[in-house]
Amino acid sequence: MTRLEETPIARLRPLRNSIEPRPVAQRSHSLQDNNGHSGFEEKQELSTEEAKHLVLDEVKKICPTGAVAFSGGEFLLRKDALELLQYNSKSGLYSFVNTNGKCLTKNLLTEIKKATGNKITFGFSLNSLDDEIHGRTRQDKPEEIVNLMSLCDEEKVGYFFLLTITKSNLSTLTKTLDFLKSQRVPLIRSPFVPRGAGKNYRELCFDRKDMKEIIHPALRDNYLSYISYTPFFAAPDFMEKTWRHLGIPLANLGCQAGRGFIGVSPEGNVAPCVHLLDTTLDCGNIRKQPLSQLLETNPILTALRDGKQLKGKCGRCRYKHTCSGCRAMAYYHTGDYLSEDPTCFFEPANELTVSEYEEVQTRNVTKFINFIIYRKPWNEIFRPTSLWTRLKILLWSFRTYAYRRVRPLLRNNRDSVATPHTRAGLKHKMPYENITH
Ligand code: SF4
Repeated sequence: MTRLEETPIARLRPLRNSIEPRPVAQRSHSLQDNNGHSGFEEKQELSTEEAKHLVLDEVKKICPTGAVAFSGGEFLLRKDALELLQYNSKSGLYSFVNTNGKCLTKNLLTEIKKATGNKITFGFSLNSLDDEIHGRTRQDKPEEIVNLMSLCDEEKVGYFFLLTITKSNLSTLTKTLDFLKSQRVPLIRSPFVPRGAGKNYRELCFDRKDMKEIIHPALRDNYLSYISYTPFFAAPDFMEKTWRHLGIPLANLGCQAGRGFIGVSPEGNVAPCVHLLDTTLDCGNIRKQPLSQLLETNPILTALRDGKQLKGKCGRCRYKHTCSGCRAMAYYHTGDYLSEDPTCFFEPANELTVSEYEEVQTRNVTKFINFIIYRKPWNEIFRPTSLWTRLKILLWSFRTYAYRRVRPLLRNNRDSVATPHTRAGLKHKMPYENITH
């Protein structure tokens, strides 16, 4: 199988104010992928000054405690990468860099850490623990990722994993997620979509059956993957209550396209999500209109934030505000970004229909919240502003913590005990041999 260009991901941290966009600096066309082609037309990219003022300053204006994810191509090949990261950090924003890590030396890592005041987290792509399967869509090797983990651990810099799900890595998905769970490393799942260099590989898109039988079971079992995916069945009333404690809008759950997240291309084009860049869902260009204005006025973005315009089963589903259905899947399968998510296996008759997985996902959300409250960078990004909110979280966390400590004693439930987080000898733990193809 021909190698594919890395699915571009420009992700932002969940934002906490009412507009909730997560602007992103996306693929740089001047930067080539590992195969030496970008898959896009060459166009005029935003200059360093434009990136600072039209993207980063606007993000700061919209959400002063938000975050920007710099993606590619390979963002670290940009000459102004360090300058942009430093600027972002000085603005008070958090930075994520999604990188293949090829040029991430110890020296560079130290420089970035210093320039950002360690308000930085790296996203490493790991599509499978199996060399051959990972190699179908990536040019690096899983063990190179492990080296990057070790480097970040040594320098005390945060990281998470990006896993692009295609038909080609389904056979090892559960094993890969189990491994990441055992290492207590957060994960963002990214659905493969036929765009950019991947546009001729539609056959790699997963379907509803894959979602039901493989993808959803693997994701719902791993609470560290709860950052964003659909279908997501956590009880809406519970989420409303607990998320409010954190001061986070529900739009930061499930599909965040246009709600807690937004994509900006290297030329300044805006889309609800990076997966929807270079499509007909063009929300304008930040050279022509400020990003903050686009977010307020663009009809596509306002429709997504409204939530009431979702169609089909997503429109009548009790999880529509916490899940929303993947808008990219809706768009690529039906051409309508507001249609129901065709990869969802849930069939709600109306808003009273409850998923059989609601209980388990709600329980796991509690673990997830505990994780983000205590772990960098999530605790910095979700940091509550008011003293009263902080106190409420403290009390709520203590109650949950106490429950977690007591429950294993009562039920002898070993799953409740946190797995020790250690990198030592990690390479030897990589279960390559145990993969079932
Ligand atoms: S029907 Fe739509 S909103 Fe409901 S769970 Fe499925 S994808 Fe989510």
